[in-house]
Amino acid sequence: MELSQRDITYCKNVGAKRADILRKELGVQTAMDLLRTYPYKYIDRSKFYRIAELNDEDTYVQIIGEVTEWHTIGIGKAQRLSATFFDGTHQCELVWFQGAKYVKLAKGVKYLLFGKPSRFNHLYNFVHPDLTPWSKVTPEMTQGLEPYYNTTETMKRHGLNSKAIRSIIAELLPDLKMGVPDTIGADILQQYRLMSLTDALINVHFPKDTLAMQNARARLKFEELFYIQLQILRQMKRREQNPGFAMPLVGTRFHALYKALPFDLTNAQKRVIHEIHDDLKSGRQMNRLLQGDVGSGKTLVALMCCLLAIDNGYQACIMAPTEILANQHYETLKAFLAPLGDAVHIALLTGSTTPKNRVPIHNGLLNGTIHILIGTHALLEDNVQWQNLGFVVIDEQHRFGVAQRAKLWTKNQLPPHILVMTATPIPRTLAMTVYGDLQVSIIDELPPGRKPVQTIHYSIQRRAQVYAFLRKQIQDGRQIYVVYPLIKENEKLDLQDLQNGFNELCEAFPEYKISMVHGQMKAADKDLQMQRFASGETQILVATTVIEVGVNVPNATVMMIQNAERFGLSQLHQLRGRVGRGGDQSYCLLLTDLELSKETRKRMDIMVATNDGFRIAEADLQLRGPGDLQGTLQSGTPFELHIANLATDGQLVTLARQAALEILDPDPLLEDERNRIYKRRLDTLRIEAHNWSEIS
Ligand code: ADP
Ligand code: MG
Repeated sequence: MELSQRDITYCKNVGAKRADILRKELGVQTAMDLLRTYPYKYIDRSKFYRIAELNDEDTYVQIIGEVTEWHTIGIGKAQRLSATFFDGTHQCELVWFQGAKYVKLAKGVKYLLFGKPSRFNHLYNFVHPDLTPWSKVTPEMTQGLEPYYNTTETMKRHGLNSKAIRSIIAELLPDLKMGVPDTIGADILQQYRLMSLTDALINVHFPKDTLAMQNARARLKFEELFYIQLQILRQMKRREQNPGFAMPLVGTRFHALYKALPFDLTNAQKRVIHEIHDDLKSGRQMNRLLQGDVGSGKTLVALMCCLLAIDNGYQACIMAPTEILANQHYETLKAFLAPLGDAVHIALLTGSTTPKNRVPIHNGLLNGTIHILIGTHALLEDNVQWQNLGFVVIDEQHRFGVAQRAKLWTKNQLPPHILVMTATPIPRTLAMTVYGDLQVSIIDELPPGRKPVQTIHYSIQRRAQVYAFLRKQIQDGRQIYVVYPLIKENEKLDLQDLQNGFNELCEAFPEYKISMVHGQMKAADKDLQMQRFASGETQILVATTVIEVGVNVPNATVMMIQNAERFGLSQLHQLRGRVGRGGDQSYCLLLTDLELSKETRKRMDIMVATNDGFRIAEADLQLRGPGDLQGTLQSGTPFELHIANLATDGQLVTLARQAALEILDPDPLLEDERNRIYKRRLDTLRIEAHNWSEIS
């Protein structure tokens, strides 16, 4: 029977109870499922250490030596056993807190010690080590890499620890060696120099040596990423065949705005508008991601593309994640469009639009007299009906769920073109997975004349110096943001911090006016305070991260971030993007405690070192791993990664995508006989994905 058909109960030492636990805890049902449960680490058992060689970074080591002395301390349950282990030149301590009475030690006997050292004062000690008399050490025990498997508490309670998993898998080895059907075609295996599935499974569990283990893992990672790409790209190809509104015309409104602009578009802006226009005239529906750092001029690009749609007789909408942003887009667009007079009608719809004011908006959308609607989630309400919505811009999409996007689509017979804008640069390899089904346009150039923001990291001990700097800036007529962290879990405490900070600033700057905004305020109060700052009536704005995206006050030149250690890199970068919007030199001040963790220090150093959003995103990915980012980006990818890691396996992502494209380009729907293995496997993978969502 094929291993993928063989129920796990047929494995040696797996009865009904254990089978049940394996299924519940690991999702393992068949022998193949178990083979697909990969070790999370390996320990090199062929290497022997000397005590003198140990250092604080070592995880597990093995040492040969003798036990020279031992004694018990305490009584009853609190009893522990302490022994001295001697390797011929140096000694270390062995400690057992539990089961001390079962540990049998003898002098003058050669032992193999295996465990994880930790250092206490100048002595290394091992807690609960494995201590095996050398006479009982089998060759297998010290042969090569020992795999370690993730286990849960429930598994351990039933004797299913890492060792047990390993021995169950070992029993499958003879059958595995007979060969299993591969999931990747021979041509691709050869082209990308990949191990066969059989060899990969053997060597991921029982690696001959480090190289074999690495090659096995590379093959399995490739496979995982390859099928994700195949799935994403097949979906994309399918959708590319969807008809979309054809918008071939470059019309009068577009030209009028272009002529009226007080500046030239940057080359990057021009390129992106071309890319979008190519999509619009193709007759296929566009799904495009527009990435560009804060201040790179995405809003204008979005507006010009809306005008392309309008000139072709369609309506457009721009959806923002917050009311403040929606308002601001509305004001920005109104200003840009002023020279066009009556040619373009825009409207704003948010949660605070009164029922009375909604009526003309609803009418205008239905009869086509409103060309662009700007708003928040309110745009998704059922009573918002369009005459012919053709172009949708979604700003900062990670705040919108996939389901909400889908809702917009269903409002037409044909789906509108979709442009998703984000100022959060995403590392390329991550984008290929998370946004893999979108075309990507990048604005990688800032408008000319911008002075890069200077970033300085201060410890709070230097507050006086910082205040003096702020005062000087205000005296020069500039304005200042002061941002406090706000984390949901202890909102109350954070608000208190904010209030204290506000009071402190009021005391420190009695001669100036200070606004404060935070998420708990009523929208109207918040807007009022923002307005006072934007108009220059107040000099300092104290805020939580509500100002993170979009707010535009060119006269503000200082972004001071309190407790900067509590912000992620991307967030810090977003906040920094709030300044440097005018002609004056701007500053970002990061305030932290003097004592910082290694990771925090790295984050501050990166912020000080670069303004490049893509470099920061890369660093963020390396520091945090992809988990967080994937979460916030709401990938919509039905796959979980079991072995590949988007932070470290970027190159494999690229290769896997390339391989998937080579298959799909000539056969987008996988109908070809020779691609049957891919289609079949995708189908089974999808069934699994479906089941997961049912379970959770
Ligand atoms: P983003 O949305 O990408 O953060 P914005 O669209 O808000 O950037 O643009 C930032 C500022 O730069 C705005 O004031 C905008 O009017 C201005 N701007 C946009 N494009 C250009 C350009 N090509 N030259 C000069 N200024 C520009
Ligand atoms: Mg913007």
